[in-house]
Amino acid sequence: MAGLYIHIPFCKKRCIYCDFYSTNRLDMADRYVAAVVEEARLRRDELSGIAALDCGKDVFKTVYVGGGTPSQLTTDVMARMVAGVGRYFRLDGVEEFTVEVNPDDVSEEYVSKLAKLGVNRVSMGVQSFNDAELAAINRRHNARCATEAYRMIREAGIRNVSIDLIYGLPGQTIDSLDATLAQALALRPEHISAYCLTFEQGTELWRRRAAGLVREADEEMSIEMYRLIVRRLSGAGYEHYEISNYALPGYWSHHNSSYWDYTPYVGLGAAAHSFDGVSRRYNPSNLMGYIDALEHGRLAYVEEKMSREEHYDEEVMMSLRTSAGLSVKSIGDKYGPEVRDVLLQKAEKYVARGIMLHRGDYLSLTDDGMLVSDAVIEDLMWG
Ligand code: SF4
Repeated sequence: MAGLYIHIPFCKKRCIYCDFYSTNRLDMADRYVAAVVEEARLRRDELSGIAALDCGKDVFKTVYVGGGTPSQLTTDVMARMVAGVGRYFRLDGVEEFTVEVNPDDVSEEYVSKLAKLGVNRVSMGVQSFNDAELAAINRRHNARCATEAYRMIREAGIRNVSIDLIYGLPGQTIDSLDATLAQALALRPEHISAYCLTFEQGTELWRRRAAGLVREADEEMSIEMYRLIVRRLSGAGYEHYEISNYALPGYWSHHNSSYWDYTPYVGLGAAAHSFDGVSRRYNPSNLMGYIDALEHGRLAYVEEKMSREEHYDEEVMMSLRTSAGLSVKSIGDKYGPEVRDVLLQKAEKYVARGIMLHRGDYLSLTDDGMLVSDAVIEDLMWG
């Protein structure tokens, strides 16, 4: 199956930890959406002939509108975009249609219009249910607003809701994280993503740490928080199916799973990436550059053909993020028995240490293995 991603780069206010591309030029929304539709028109035949797709030409099974902040678009503008893209890509087979929202953009009218557009999954950036922690990272909402938004999403009939949480926040303690998890679990969303706060160069968070205004959670604290999350969510029936993702049975994100499965996807919009099974395409992280190219009938992406080694590295990296893991047979079939044997030999020590499992055909990381995934994956790479 193929996935369609549409990036909406608008944000009203910048969260201090964020290094994603975003802009506050919401006045450009109409031109931006027209550019996205034009990009769909120019790329409408892109998936033709990809043998890996078992669903026929240009049929998408998942749509994911992410950001930035997609909920900064009015539902009328969103509807125009979806209808426009739908003129060029067949969306009638879509099974999972996700839109990311910020809690303070949600109203009863907004979510009921999203549901009428066919959106059947909402992903909400909650991050924490502690108001001081939310204020410390410059989020626009508070805990009450998030809980209210969740209620409205449910009342609009959306049966698949994901919430994002962040751990390692400035001022966060084990107890406050535990309280956030308790509130999240009381809502019983189908899906929870829990990311460790990262300090990215160029962000306000990075500057504040350099100025001694915030302290980064030390390694011991981060590990304790991660283990608390795994324990609490697993204990409540959530499957830890990817390093940062947990879901009730039957609710793994199909769209994100296609990235980890190495399935082709098309990404439309500024800063969006695409993968057709052979190369990656990157749209510019530049709103006006993107709009300008499309208004002149030109595609804005740069294309990078991936080498055999890069394909191998990506497959190892993506697969080992998931609880399903990496198929040893697939590595042998694609890259040859020698490459497969080197992989198995390198993996042996991790299996012996109990941070990796070798079950049947698959190598996968345990919960503790996921804590050191970067180092393990780097070791298993081609070089
Ligand atoms: S809303 Fe999301 S994309 Fe926008 S600044 Fe905050 S974290 Fe970044």
